[in-house]
Amino acid sequence: MNKVILILSDALRYDVAKANMGFLGHLVETKQASLYKIIGELPSLSRPMYETIHTGLTSSEHGIVANSMVRLSAKPNIFQAVKDSDKITAAAAYSWFSELYNHAPYDPIDDKEVDDETLAIQHGRFYTEDEYPDVELFFSAAHLVRKFLPDYLLVHPMGMDYHGETFGADTKEYRSHAIYQDKKLAPLIMEWRERGYTIFVTGDHGINADGDHGGTTSDQRDVPLLIIRSGVKGRGDTGEVVSHLQIAPTILNLLEIPIPETMKHFPLI
Ligand SMILES: [Zn+2]
Repeated sequence: MNKVILILSDALRYDVAKANMGFLGHLVETKQASLYKIIGELPSLSRPMYETIHTGLTSSEHGIVANSMVRLSAKPNIFQAVKDSDKITAAAAYSWFSELYNHAPYDPIDDKEVDDETLAIQHGRFYTEDEYPDVELFFSAAHLVRKFLPDYLLVHPMGMDYHGETFGADTKEYRSHAIYQDKKLAPLIMEWRERGYTIFVTGDHGINADGDHGGTTSDQRDVPLLIIRSGVKGRGDTGEVVSHLQIAPTILNLLEIPIPETMKHFPLI
């Protein structure tokens, strides 16, 4: 049975990921992974793109058009679809994910750690500080895998966004953090693939030299999409441009869950 992990690295730029993430580059080079470029949906902002990636809808279609909009998702989404199919959902993610799929507004005490089968994110480990160390987040995610074997797990580190917004994207700090994430993820990706998971790596948006995002330039919107499958060869660097809108139907297709009518884009696999 297929299981999926989505590593959504906040503000991971396409060019910086390709140049600095050497373990992922190895998987691409040896065709153990497929690499695509995503020209990100707009606006290139976090909360709208979290919902776009999980619903397969544009921001004006799902209605979360600004980071300031604090409410639950009102559209069919990956978490709800997986839960409704009696499969297990989990996330180690920023608190805005709890607000989109579990409870809004977020209660930093009640909502921080949840294990509740009635919620859309059944096993959640959430954080509120942008500088929350990625490695701690990765260990929480890895623990969720070992303990619950979720069918769908979201892993959402904030380190690229934090370093990009603090120092700007054209800096040692931002680029070095891509190397750091790659190094910390490498052994976990090997373990998860060994356990039979298909692993996706992408970003919600990019970031520019000013440390900003929200606009339309390629540095603010272009992100990578890597797909690493267990026991199935990849296509290497495909050179193809795909859409954020294809991620949700691709994940549900892999999980053999009916794709909601609202998700109109073709699955990649
Ligand atoms: Zn973001």
